[in-house]
Amino acid sequence: MPTYPDVKLFIAGEWRDGQEGKTLPIVDPATEEEIGRLAHATKPDLDAALESAERGFKVWRDVPAFERYKIMRKAADILRERKDDIGWLMTREQGKPLPQSTLEVAAAADTVDWIAEEGRRTYGLVIPARAPGVTNMTLKLPIGPVAAFTPWNFPINQIVRKLCSALATGCSIIVKAPEETPASPAELIKAFTDAGVPADVVNLVYGVPAEISEYLIPHPTIRKISFTGSTPVGKHLAALAGQHMKRATMELGGHAPVMVFDDADVEKAVKTMAIFKTRNAGQVCISPTRFLVQEKIADQFLEGFIGAMEKTKVGNGLEKDTDMGPLANERRIPAIEDMINDATSKGGNLATGGERVGNKGYFFQPTVLTDVPTDAKIMNDEPFGPVAVINRFKDYDEAVSEANRLPYGLASYAFTGSGAVADRLGRDVESGMVTVNHLGLALPEVPFGGIKDSGYGTEGGADVLEAYLETRFYTSQF
Ligand code: NAD
Repeated sequence: MPTYPDVKLFIAGEWRDGQEGKTLPIVDPATEEEIGRLAHATKPDLDAALESAERGFKVWRDVPAFERYKIMRKAADILRERKDDIGWLMTREQGKPLPQSTLEVAAAADTVDWIAEEGRRTYGLVIPARAPGVTNMTLKLPIGPVAAFTPWNFPINQIVRKLCSALATGCSIIVKAPEETPASPAELIKAFTDAGVPADVVNLVYGVPAEISEYLIPHPTIRKISFTGSTPVGKHLAALAGQHMKRATMELGGHAPVMVFDDADVEKAVKTMAIFKTRNAGQVCISPTRFLVQEKIADQFLEGFIGAMEKTKVGNGLEKDTDMGPLANERRIPAIEDMINDATSKGGNLATGGERVGNKGYFFQPTVLTDVPTDAKIMNDEPFGPVAVINRFKDYDEAVSEANRLPYGLASYAFTGSGAVADRLGRDVESGMVTVNHLGLALPEVPFGGIKDSGYGTEGGADVLEAYLETRFYTSQF
């Protein structure tokens, strides 16, 4: 296995320390040990990255789409070869169980393949003309240097969609990757440079997120912003982007409802959702959170779900039998405790869990709250942890009205034996993604994105490159 490295910035094709020499600690969330130091970018480094991205754009936009595709496919193969080593780094810095980390690297490689392929199909149109000899056409051209800001919950997969969309369209990119989990993103970038992406096309920085975004977003070099993170920060960055007329993709928070109807396969619903709730310790923007269970099967569902949560083995992600690792950083613990206390003080019932595990490492019990009133914080704010709330509903209208009550609209889940109910849910639930009776989200070939306060733009499927392209019109007469 590799040793955990000190992580540097990648600017103008070189791995570098910050020019002011500042570093930040990198902490293993399972042991609270400092496992490395991270170079910290300040303004001179950002200026160097901006100049590099400007140069990189001029080079990369002229590389034929087919060449870009070949380099990207090679990067995907490199990721597959290195997935065990990169997965190990990810588990050390982020905490998730090793199989989830290596799966994330393998899934990233599949995303690279998909987006690389889409890069060969950025077709324009030929528009019928009104006069003889006139040619009307649209060209799809790369928008320019991109600034991408990504969080710590999926250190690689949050970057790979943005990075590949930029690369497939001919844009250069500056990635501000997560300070908490920096080594696996650095390995992602290395896979691309080893595959042949030229110097200056990709730059990687870490530092104080707000300082970096305030500097990069308004900067004239940057033409496109992509952010994944919380809704409040996303609104702030989207406003800044708007003020400077920059295109933006916003992949923000959610509060996913799970509707389980009387006619559902309850066992399947329990099994699928209990595993998914504890995945990455619930630190997932599409994590199932507000469970709405129809009255007739509510007791059966509760019993099964609570049992499954209690069986979850919490531990260091490097240990073989661990189902759920620690939370990724210390601040999540008081945030989750506060939500649980608030829910019980308002009349909610703590059915299982509710506490930190041990006093070393940021471990938290898988937790179930039931019968929580809608004015409790946890019914309105994303818990971003291993906490499920289970309430009952009478009929379809009540379930859909609760599902749509919040300003979020990212992912929604449902279990029903009725095709007609499933179809109605697909239309009635105000959510960017709805999946019924299975976990069908987040594959490279399907759209990924929210509506309402969960943001705008998609990071998957056939539209994935649209946000990185400008449609230009060209007409001539000969
Ligand atoms: P946070 O809001 O402080 O940060 C969330 C992410 O945004 C982090 O990666 C952070 O580095 C970045 N960020 C914060 N301020 C920024 C700024 N001004 N400019 C650029 N980037 C900035 O919260 P946190 O404690 O790190 O995470 C907890 C909350 O964040 C969760 O409750 C969840 O809502 C949200 N979150 C969402 C996702 C997601 O996948 N959508 C991922 C991680 C965190």
